[in-house]
Amino acid sequence: MADPSSKTATGTIGKSEPRPLLTVAQARDQILDRVAALNAETVALTEARGRVLAEEVRSERDVPPFANSAMDGYAVRARDVAQASADQPVRLRVLGEIRAGAAPTGAVQPQTALRIMTGAMIPEGSDAVVRVEDTTEHDGTVEVRVPVPFGTSLRAVGSDLHRGDLLASAGRVVTPGLIGVLASAGRVAMPCIRQPRVLVLTTGDELREPGETLGPGQITNTNRYTLLAAVQDAGGIVVDAGVARDERGDLTERLAAAGKSDLVVTSGGVSMGGYDLVRGLLEERDAVTFWQVALRPGKPLMFASVGGVPLIGLPGNPVSTLVAFELFVRPALLKLQGRTDVHRPRLTAITEEPLQNPPHLEQYFRGIARHDGARIVVRLTGDQGSHVLRSMADANCLLVVPLGTSEVSAGSAVDIIPLGPID
Ligand code: AMP
Ligand code: MG
Repeated sequence: MADPSSKTATGTIGKSEPRPLLTVAQARDQILDRVAALNAETVALTEARGRVLAEEVRSERDVPPFANSAMDGYAVRARDVAQASADQPVRLRVLGEIRAGAAPTGAVQPQTALRIMTGAMIPEGSDAVVRVEDTTEHDGTVEVRVPVPFGTSLRAVGSDLHRGDLLASAGRVVTPGLIGVLASAGRVAMPCIRQPRVLVLTTGDELREPGETLGPGQITNTNRYTLLAAVQDAGGIVVDAGVARDERGDLTERLAAAGKSDLVVTSGGVSMGGYDLVRGLLEERDAVTFWQVALRPGKPLMFASVGGVPLIGLPGNPVSTLVAFELFVRPALLKLQGRTDVHRPRLTAITEEPLQNPPHLEQYFRGIARHDGARIVVRLTGDQGSHVLRSMADANCLLVVPLGTSEVSAGSAVDIIPLGPID
């Protein structure tokens, strides 16, 4: 074990004066200061969903590229049908038909029309389209029962995009809608920020994999799987370093792969126990930036570096692991991807239950929020023990009780951080 008064660790309790713990915001700022957007790579349109644009994208063409019909109907001259009514329909000679994807078969002359399909090119001479529902065609003539003002049911050239228009700025997340716009603008690929590679290492002699038989004192490794999923959810690429036994050699060996990743995330081995070797090992190397944050659950959080790569040491208790991931790892992964909106928005909700908090910590309870008429109300997801993973799995939000607050009574307003949809 490293000397607990090690000068590299903020908040260590040792021979010297205990320092106040870093707040969640301070700790997150220190982590975010150490990561920056990764470089760009070319990404095909079909692979771009959820990726972040590295550069602004402008349209290479006008969209639509030609004036076309918004309706199935007849391309006409507006002035020819100005007097049309149900009682006295206007009769126009039908010169032919224009289908989508084909060039017009001719031009519209006075007192004539061309049958036209949605998306087909507007022919010369036509300045409006009358809907098929407002007409009757027989013997080469169409009867038009309504007047259509100039421009009716026409889609002008460039009415969606003009060549050179800004489609999206750098930092924009690529959504299905944006993919469509990029496709229509002629793009087949675009520069996106590389996805961060995240080395995920779980630690603990007691851990067995799901499905394996548990011996005395053994538990199932849940953090390996929650972290793999959480990293992917946040846009990262997992490099699974497996499970390290609580033993120096194994830890050192598995952490040696760190250099090929952009971030290392570990679980366990950072609290006060005799086998909390992740912290011990990195303190010995003078590689710890801070240890311990004024947070519940997740106080033993550690920030360090290994092989020149930032390492976030998450506490082993499964709820602490995920809450700390949410507060520290996710924002770091978003920043690495070039996102500027790295913090989740907060909402105000009314707590249905009283909340107790040690005032020197900021506490993140797990809750279920729902709309109740005009306001959002929130209740806890049962037992809030840091080992009760269901409290996290069932939650659609975190409830934040800030530093300095020891009690929140039922019916008071609290900040919540939505993690999913609120009914
Ligand atoms: P540690 O910080 O290593 O002392 O771990 C704290 C608690 O979390 C202990 O009860 C561990 O058994 C538990 N724990 C650590 N790692 C995991 C894991 N990967 N999956 C589930 N529980 C874990
Ligand atoms: Mg452990």
